[in-house]
Amino acid sequence: MMTLLKPLADVFNLVTWLAAALISTAPTVWANEVQPAMVIIIDDLGYNLANGLGIVNLPGPITLAVMPHTPHGALLAQRGKLANKEVMLHVPMENHAGLRLGPGGLTLAMQETEFKQVLRGNLASIPHVQGLNNHMGSALTEQALPMQWTMDLAKELNLFFVDSRTSAKSLALQQALRQQVPALERDVFLDNDTATKALTVQFEQAMRIAHKYGYVVLIGHPYPATIAFLKQKLPQLDQSGIMLISASALINQLKPHLDTL
Ligand SMILES: [Zn+2]
Repeated sequence: MMTLLKPLADVFNLVTWLAAALISTAPTVWANEVQPAMVIIIDDLGYNLANGLGIVNLPGPITLAVMPHTPHGALLAQRGKLANKEVMLHVPMENHAGLRLGPGGLTLAMQETEFKQVLRGNLASIPHVQGLNNHMGSALTEQALPMQWTMDLAKELNLFFVDSRTSAKSLALQQALRQQVPALERDVFLDNDTATKALTVQFEQAMRIAHKYGYVVLIGHPYPATIAFLKQKLPQLDQSGIMLISASALINQLKPHLDTL
């Protein structure tokens, strides 16, 4: 099976855009010996303890995206760490729909100093954070400057970034790569519809992407239907030839390929 490294298109665009290198070779081929990988990030953790623990107790390296300054966020991060789950900060960012961001929200009205203060405060509220992803953010991720400030802190604190891709015009991945912040983007939302049939469709699409490109990044939420679905599906993943890994484990697998560009 020959599979292409998925973010190459983005990286090629970036390299062209930076006029940093002349790419004359064919795209790198994803190493055939590596098993297709699936990253599952569960967003919006911190408000509901029972559902959050339902996610923490799922088998395998699920990645937890915990909201800042939430009643149970710090506890869930601690329990997640004990259960060998990777912890990310799920950063509320301004959206086009005008939906409330809750505490720690980053907005277009903020200047650099305030923006970074709020983001640092968010990070201080949740332990064991290794990466960031955006909660909502359809408006903020389209703007270069706030994305630059976000990546400034990610770089300084050695965090990776996952673009939740809530806008097709998001600049987050581009800005991350430009500042050499390790980054991924979401491929599939698992549970916009929580009917079992809909969850199955999304999960099967993710498996197809993993088989085709070598990996897939899935984002879900701590809904009871999602927890029940994953509890049933995760033990079968290995049989379909796909390995569940954390976001940082995938980044480490991709790194040598990206470094050769
Ligand atoms: Zn969210």
